[in-house]
Amino acid sequence: MFSNYKPTWMVDAIYKITPSQLKKQGIKGILTDLDNTLIAWNNPDGTEELKSWLLEMKNAGIPVVVVSNNNSERVAKAVAPFGLQYVHRALKPFSRGIKQGYQLLGLKKEDVVMIGDQIMTDVKAANGAGVRSILVQPVIPTDSWKTQINRAAERKIMRYLLKHNPELKWRGGI
Ligand SMILES: [Mg+2]
Repeated sequence: MFSNYKPTWMVDAIYKITPSQLKKQGIKGILTDLDNTLIAWNNPDGTEELKSWLLEMKNAGIPVVVVSNNNSERVAKAVAPFGLQYVHRALKPFSRGIKQGYQLLGLKKEDVVMIGDQIMTDVKAANGAGVRSILVQPVIPTDSWKTQINRAAERKIMRYLLKHNPELKWRGGI
């Protein structure tokens, strides 16, 4: 039950994911959620940690594409300071935006990983596309009202998944 919500890995924060960890898993490109994964929903500027993590990936030759359910205007504005490519209106939990993301990179589904803070959108979309996923803790613990509605259901599913999949744990890397 709930296997379509099960992430491949769970990592405390996106900044803990390193190029060498990714390369060991054959991962050549990153798809990532925007809000509360890369940046706080109420702080669009991002942190120094984010900037250095993106630079680390760039230097390692691992491209990063934002896959967001938000509209083009909002996503374009958010990613502009970081110079990232993006897919907008990704319609997660459907898998279309995930496919667009790896196609944009010229990569195959086996070559990429989807990173996000929500199992009901990010992880489900990745699983539907046959792409491995990394669930991360939200950048900040509070959410926009839209996200809060999903969180209660997510907590229940997470409790089930953690109970029935002992290998699934929050870790410092993949
Ligand atoms: Mg998010």
